[in-house]
Amino acid sequence: TWESVPLAPPDAIYKLTGAYKEDAYPQKVNLGVGAYRDDNNKPWILPVVKKATDILLNDPALDHEYLPITGLPEFTSAAARLVLGADSPAIAEGRVASVQTISGTGANHLGALFLSRFYHWPEGTEKQAYLSDPTWINHFQIMRGVGITPITYPYYDPATIGLAFGAYLATIRAAPPGSVFVLHACAHNPTGVDPTRAQWTQICELVLERKHYVFFDSAYQGFASGDLDADAWAVREFVKRGVPLLICQSFAKNAGLYGERVGALHVVAPTQETAVRIKSQLSVLTRSEISSPPAHGARLMALIMNDAALFEEWKRDIKTMAQRIIAMRKELHRLLTEELKTPGNWDHIVNQIGMFSFTGISQEQSQALIEQAHVYLTTNGRISMAGLNSHNIRYFADCLDRVVRG
Ligand code: PMP
Repeated sequence: TWESVPLAPPDAIYKLTGAYKEDAYPQKVNLGVGAYRDDNNKPWILPVVKKATDILLNDPALDHEYLPITGLPEFTSAAARLVLGADSPAIAEGRVASVQTISGTGANHLGALFLSRFYHWPEGTEKQAYLSDPTWINHFQIMRGVGITPITYPYYDPATIGLAFGAYLATIRAAPPGSVFVLHACAHNPTGVDPTRAQWTQICELVLERKHYVFFDSAYQGFASGDLDADAWAVREFVKRGVPLLICQSFAKNAGLYGERVGALHVVAPTQETAVRIKSQLSVLTRSEISSPPAHGARLMALIMNDAALFEEWKRDIKTMAQRIIAMRKELHRLLTEELKTPGNWDHIVNQIGMFSFTGISQEQSQALIEQAHVYLTTNGRISMAGLNSHNIRYFADCLDRVVRG
């Protein structure tokens, strides 16, 4: 009966991790994975998460009952305040529909499914969403999975290893009014290239003028700058200026809760009454897919975000991670430019933001790093800065220098 089922290709990132694990070379380096590692290349359980886990597990009232369909209310409300700001007028006016999701991926899926069902698509177009070129590869499958055709807008300019700002704006201008644009809230994956605040403002004005809808993907709040508020600047600015939008929020990276699948979808509506109707439909969609979301991670984050002392501790932990990544950027830049005098300009290494960096090296050079140097990275030249540490950075810089010199 299943003769017609074709074999699907393996997921590129998971395949890369598998190859790294099997490699017996002692100096091997994994720069593929999008997860934070400490200076000893170990996963890092945030101290504040450890503390919250102890509190939770010592609570005699803890049970394993189902959460409500739309999630733990203390979690979703705190999550909305985290991204929109504690003083957000949209929250005060009751016009944010927030539901708990299966981490950021689930938020993207639910957001896309909701749009697919209910969005008023521009006259004469099919269901379609504009994705940055390049983007987190899963955006394509998520959109297609709910019947939305992904199309791309120019984002990365290989010539400058920076933002293709002119072409980006031109696409926003040319798109049919009311088009859906997926924007990375901060720390763009995979490029590490973010618009400046002045550029964000221009994007926002044009989006408003063209009456587009913004689908914000916020998977790295806190990871870009080390400051939760600074990293939410673009989202808050768009909300303030009245852009119709939704936000997909993940706690995988900023709380190190990858496997716990903690996330939320926030739809900012024009009125409270609209938000109530939207939330009722998100509830129906969630019911048929997961019935109700997982409890443990949401309970942890609710504890952390609703307790002033734990919240401050979380912010310190986020700084620890962000600062280590920034330090690795500076050190790699120093090694390439000062010590090795590697040909080319490497300023993008320190100018890019967040967990990832587009090195600008070619597919062949990336392949050579994997095959000859046991340095694992995606073949678009993207490296995860979190995979670098004080023990392996010199080895990596030497290998990179060698492939660049050819
Ligand atoms: N969006 C982007 C841009 C991402 O990079 C990621 C994580 N790789 C996600 C969403 C979702 O991750 P998760 O489901 O683990 O929260």
